[in-house]
Amino acid sequence: MVAIIHLSFEEMWERIIACDRNYDGLFFTAVKTTKIYCRPSCRSRKPKKINVEFYHDIMEVEKAGYRACKRCQPEVEYSPHSELVRTVIVCLVSQYKQPLTLQDIANQVGVSPYHLERTFKQETSETPRTYLERIRIDKAAHLLKSTALTNLEICYEVGFRSPSNFYKVFRSIKACSPNEYRKLNR
Ligand SMILES: [Zn+2]
Repeated sequence: MVAIIHLSFEEMWERIIACDRNYDGLFFTAVKTTKIYCRPSCRSRKPKKINVEFYHDIMEVEKAGYRACKRCQPEVEYSPHSELVRTVIVCLVSQYKQPLTLQDIANQVGVSPYHLERTFKQETSETPRTYLERIRIDKAAHLLKSTALTNLEICYEVGFRSPSNFYKVFRSIKACSPNEYRKLNR
């Protein structure tokens, strides 16, 4: 499945610094100096930013001459997650700007909303909705740090439809307001 993942270099860099497992399988970190590639969640010492390039496709990274890291084993068909759940995660990461409902996602992957939510929850301990909210808040956090967009602009940019919901979800995930977050991370 080919999906457009709207992540900039800086965002992918932030995800690997955070060793974020939620993005495993969506992109790979290749280190030019060692010719090794990793998952975002790899716990090995972080490379210098200047030596890193990102790939979305494992075939591409292998073709470019990189070898899989022995520690995080990015080439192993990774799945704590089934194909269905991986497909759903790709949908969420690539379409977070849109007003996605459970029904929309279910239609895209061809199962019932009930089955989708149950399977997703079994495998990730989250609902598709909370997973999507986290992707949106990651994006919002990145924009707060790296742009001068207002909170309201960011709210809509990352796919929230209501500012009050944006503030509520932001606080529940980051334990501070968007303004506080911006101040702390400038
Ligand atoms: Zn690794």
